[in-house]
Amino acid sequence: MEYRIRTWPDKILKEPTKEVDFFDERLQEYIDKMWEFMYKEEGVGLAANQIGIPYQILVIDTTIREKRQEDETEEPVKMVLINPKIVEKEGEVMSTEGCLSFPGVQITIPRAKRVKVIGKNEKGEDITVESSEFLAIVLQHEIDHLNGIPFINYLSPLKRKLVLDKYLKSLKEDQYETA
Ligand SMILES: [Zn+2]
Repeated sequence: MEYRIRTWPDKILKEPTKEVDFFDERLQEYIDKMWEFMYKEEGVGLAANQIGIPYQILVIDTTIREKRQEDETEEPVKMVLINPKIVEKEGEVMSTEGCLSFPGVQITIPRAKRVKVIGKNEKGEDITVESSEFLAIVLQHEIDHLNGIPFINYLSPLKRKLVLDKYLKSLKEDQYETA
């Protein structure tokens, strides 16, 4: 498999990923690759399909974040999440987000304030994660990726078109520059 960062409108970002039922060396290889790309691109989270792996795998490391908000109380975490599902959602906050699959795009969208997520670790053991701070946003953004949902979906149709037109135009200009 060829691993590289997949950017919109790559088809793999639009399709739901498959459940993982193999907790073995192959899974570990996928996870190692994901860490490699996530750190190289300076992200705090990465979904497997963002580098071409069609399975429900997330890596998250909020310890590398540059600055925290003053009122945050949750400790930063580093984790692998397999087959994650949001089982509880509460409240709403506006969240300003970027995405490695939409270079140069930053948008502000509504997210749930608190989420509870269940899933497995890389050994196949059940884990539960809860957050009502920064991690809650990362979890929602990344789990959406695994379900084929890009963050631009939360914009109104008009706003989405404006953001997408600008993004696609910037892609074209990049191509001319390197051609
Ligand atoms: Zn993203």
